[in-house]
Amino acid sequence: MSQDKNKIIGNTLVVETLQQMAKNGQVAHSILLAGPEKIGRTTIALQFAAMLNCEDTESSKKPCEQCRTCRLIMNKNHPDVIHLVPGNVLCRGEGGHESHPNSRDIRICQIRGVIETVSRYPFEAPWRVIIIEPAEHLGRESANALLKTLEEPPEHTVFILISATPHSLPETIVSRCRQVTCSLVNPKIIEQELLLRDIPPELASKATKAANKRPGEAIKFCHHPDLIETRNMKLENCKNIIAAGNTDRFQYASELANNWRKDRSMVYEELEIWSSFWEENLLQTARTENLTHPTIHASLTGLKAVDNAKNNLDALVMPRLCLELMLLQFPALN
Ligand SMILES: [Zn+2]
Ligand SMILES: [Zn+2]
Repeated sequence: MSQDKNKIIGNTLVVETLQQMAKNGQVAHSILLAGPEKIGRTTIALQFAAMLNCEDTESSKKPCEQCRTCRLIMNKNHPDVIHLVPGNVLCRGEGGHESHPNSRDIRICQIRGVIETVSRYPFEAPWRVIIIEPAEHLGRESANALLKTLEEPPEHTVFILISATPHSLPETIVSRCRQVTCSLVNPKIIEQELLLRDIPPELASKATKAANKRPGEAIKFCHHPDLIETRNMKLENCKNIIAAGNTDRFQYASELANNWRKDRSMVYEELEIWSSFWEENLLQTARTENLTHPTIHASLTGLKAVDNAKNNLDALVMPRLCLELMLLQFPALN
């Protein structure tokens, strides 16, 4: 399925909007690409960079995905298309600055690197594209420094800010951006695409179900079918925790909080499982029962508790507190 790895599954309207923008040459200097994780946001941003810079003058379909520029961009090897993520990318720390390959935030030293790059260095492609991901991990200092550049954008430079939580970004940044919103993808579309990529039907169906409307997840499950089983076991574990009393719930919250110190993404993944758990309860009940059924209300309460926990963790509230609160807010299921 590798030849299709750059094909975007779903979100056709978003792609068309960007195609139109590239075609008309009326390109916004800063774009806020909003939407949940694992649905192809980075690929969409790279494709947009390729639409702007594709060398093929004949073809009506851009990007052509064949020319040298398109290939370099899609493989993240083009010098004028920069993907700024947490870590050491473009770090311009001064004397005594410790390197930070595993940092969680996009730091001010990296924004200095961006500013230096866009203001000093010439570029070859028609458009320079700076993709900043995830934008919600710009610290306040970084956001302020970036804002100055967004206010006086250099010629032929586009900033694409990718964010799952656009509401958490400073209003001053958001108001500078043209917002384009990507959505979760209809499972039917995901399954169809997997079948087109020669995934065996049984695996395509299981992977789609487990992916919870996220094409990126579905593709991951096709590559690693064993992860589907792991996910099912985790869902079973959610069920047990909900059936257990407060002692077990606190024990679990404390384990999660300890994991937070070692690997935050693991905790976010666990919260994703909880969202799926409540969503599946909600859908199953809605299919067979009246909308006043108590499980419907319970599932919505559960979903809200997970969302609150995610927002609080993003806002750096004490992790143990956020997680305990979430576990306490989870209702019992009959
Ligand atoms: Zn091309
Ligand atoms: Zn640095």
